[in-house]
Amino acid sequence: MRHLIAGNWKMNGLRSSLNEITKLKSLLAASQRAVDVLVCPPVTLLERLVVAAKGTVVKCGAQDCHASASGAHTGDVSAEMLSEAGAEFVIVGHSERRADHAEADVLVKAKAEAAQRAGMMPIICVGETQNERENGRAIDVVTNQLLGSLPNSGEFVVAYEPVWAIGTGLVPTLADIEEMHGVIRGKTAPAVRLLYGGSVKPSNAGDILQVANVNGALVGGASLKADDFHGIIDAYK
Ligand code: PEP
Repeated sequence: MRHLIAGNWKMNGLRSSLNEITKLKSLLAASQRAVDVLVCPPVTLLERLVVAAKGTVVKCGAQDCHASASGAHTGDVSAEMLSEAGAEFVIVGHSERRADHAEADVLVKAKAEAAQRAGMMPIICVGETQNERENGRAIDVVTNQLLGSLPNSGEFVVAYEPVWAIGTGLVPTLADIEEMHGVIRGKTAPAVRLLYGGSVKPSNAGDILQVANVNGALVGGASLKADDFHGIIDAYK
């Protein structure tokens, strides 16, 4: 299975940020790692990113989509629109969307199916809060999220992102990552790529990416700078 390193720029990035893509392109050309690379910028930069990444290994994606193809949904963007703009992947169910927009599993599943309908690959995020982990409920919470959020058929990627590890510098132990990825693998086919996300950096990527059933990473903060993002990709030596 080809592994995937996906960058989530979140609500960061103006046109000048595309300079980082120019830099990433030259770093990747020099290193030639056998890994898929994805960047999910804010939607305003998607089409420009597609142009900037043309002819390179960098694929482009989006951070969310609406479940419907079109309609009276002010401010929303459909999967079909993102696909037409050049997105090949869509992140759905990120914990920031689950928290900020009260997105529940049933909606995450509908969005994942919308991405598939539009010919894109959904990256479905799951993960427990700190409180849930401390109370020994992490596996139950993630199992329930999987049951509620995964599409009934078709291809998808799953990202395990403990909420308490996102943007905090905190990372679960390698044993805890292995345990959770083993649980997720038990609920998904062998060909489904399982990403770990939460404070992945060049300094910890080498260890995390070697854990059993970790088939890549979903990277937030460290994807904004080409050197850091490339440092994570470079862990595949
Ligand atoms: C994320 O936003 O998906 C993420 C994992 O963020 P960070 O890498 O900054 O923790």
